[in-house]
Amino acid sequence: MDKKSLVNLLERTAEVLELIGENPFKVKNYQSAARALEEDPRELQELESLQFIGIPRLGKPVAQALMDALKTGEFAPLLEASKDVPPGVLEMFVVRGIGAKKIRSLWDAGLTSLEELKSAALAGKVAALKGFGQKSEDTILENVEFALSSATRHHISSGVGAAEILLEYLKHLHPRVAGSVGRGLETVSDVNIVVTGSSDEVKDALNEVSPLERESYPAWSGTLNRMRFEVAFSSAENRPVTDALFSGTAWSDFLLEQARFKGFELSFEGLYKVGEHVELSSEAELYTALELPNVPLEYRESEHLAKGLDFLSSLPRADELITAQDIRGMVHVHSQYSDGTATVRQMVTGALERGHAYLGMGDHSVSAFYAGGLSIERLRVQMLEIDALRAEGFPILKGSEVDILADGSLDYPDDVLLELDYVVASVHSLFNLSKEAQTERLVRAVSHPLVTILGHATGRLLLRRPSYDVDLDAVMAAAAVHNTAIEINANPWRLDVDWRTALEWRDRVRFAINTDAHVVSGLDDLKYGVMAARKAGLTPSQVINTLSLEEFKVFARG
Ligand SMILES: [Zn+2]
Ligand SMILES: [Zn+2]
Repeated sequence: MDKKSLVNLLERTAEVLELIGENPFKVKNYQSAARALEEDPRELQELESLQFIGIPRLGKPVAQALMDALKTGEFAPLLEASKDVPPGVLEMFVVRGIGAKKIRSLWDAGLTSLEELKSAALAGKVAALKGFGQKSEDTILENVEFALSSATRHHISSGVGAAEILLEYLKHLHPRVAGSVGRGLETVSDVNIVVTGSSDEVKDALNEVSPLERESYPAWSGTLNRMRFEVAFSSAENRPVTDALFSGTAWSDFLLEQARFKGFELSFEGLYKVGEHVELSSEAELYTALELPNVPLEYRESEHLAKGLDFLSSLPRADELITAQDIRGMVHVHSQYSDGTATVRQMVTGALERGHAYLGMGDHSVSAFYAGGLSIERLRVQMLEIDALRAEGFPILKGSEVDILADGSLDYPDDVLLELDYVVASVHSLFNLSKEAQTERLVRAVSHPLVTILGHATGRLLLRRPSYDVDLDAVMAAAAVHNTAIEINANPWRLDVDWRTALEWRDRVRFAINTDAHVVSGLDDLKYGVMAARKAGLTPSQVINTLSLEEFKVFARG
């Protein structure tokens, strides 16, 4: 569990208490505990070692419950508050735009699940309720549909976290992460791992992780941190076939069809031709036998397959794709100057400790007041601090994440932007503009000669908020003309732009893989951005923060 999940638990507790009509002071207590924890600059590890004692506005009982939550994964005050609320009513909290009060009205009207809420909205019954109305019903319907489609999915970071734990238990059985986590998909519904070993060996290895269930194919499934997992086991002989078939549904369906077409029989039992077993010593040999390209796991998606085999063969090979080691500059990070929790010195030290060659600051600009955006004066104070740190030998670029204003102009005047080494331009407001206006706004921003990178182009938050309405192709085309790089924001909640867009535009624009870190540990999100970039078939030369510091400056200002 990370700090953000603990903050969510506190917030959710306040909401449920409000829903059941609890004492407003009790509600407030959890709300302020949530804010206090969120705003505390210390990392979770440090707070845990202090047992959450000494955080202002966070009392002892809450501190104790948080400690227990870290151990058990369950937050007792939330369980207590929720015990008489139907689970389907609790699910309504994931629907954007309705809070405790509205959920109470919906519950009082007899609606106790997302499905019931959807049907009621479709039938126009929500608009008729007191305090709702037509516009409110339309928004609810849209958001319920989004929530229903997200309900069983998790962020890739949760998948990777669970996979890392399982790999530890299975390390003696040559494990490989397969399925959607192995393919680096942005959201996942389960974790798949393939091992070499017997059914009993897997069962013994995972004994203490979870109760297990035997699947109809050679695999055991269970649950870890609320995520379903599946471990497929295979003999050494059948391992190539098992690895291939556990890549993902689209890929295995395709392989089975291709095998039939070429006169083979393919199953977990192995590859056969007219009853004769075909010996395979590697997965590569399977693809040779089926006359298929041996593509990296990241490409084994229906979206890649839909473009045809010639396209798949034309993409870079696994050893040509970008890796985390290729990234030399960590650009677009935040510090205490705006809404980050670390100092500039701590951020650059963190980047250097992770093997990067330089750091590029990207604190918010003045209009982002809710995120502590910097006035021109404050920005200049930061630049002076960077000068001092540079004199000590720290490789830091002066940059800013500048708000794109309503009309597409930028939040600092050009002469200020010129004092910076590079500029990330991002949208943080006015998500509801018409498609035409939003597109015009972004096209104007990426066409600005001083903009180096377009930050999180669609504004989506995975499993929470879809993209704003925008003609992304028009924006990408303008970025291509003006040599503005497109960010692949590596935060697992964003992964924005989507890899599908990057795949489409890979030969026409350059990209920047940015963590947008607000804490030092946020720099570790790089891996998720790299996964997305690999799905898009990107090589190091297509990503600008693989450049050296000097080359990067030339790209930005050359
Ligand atoms: Zn941003
Ligand atoms: Zn940012």
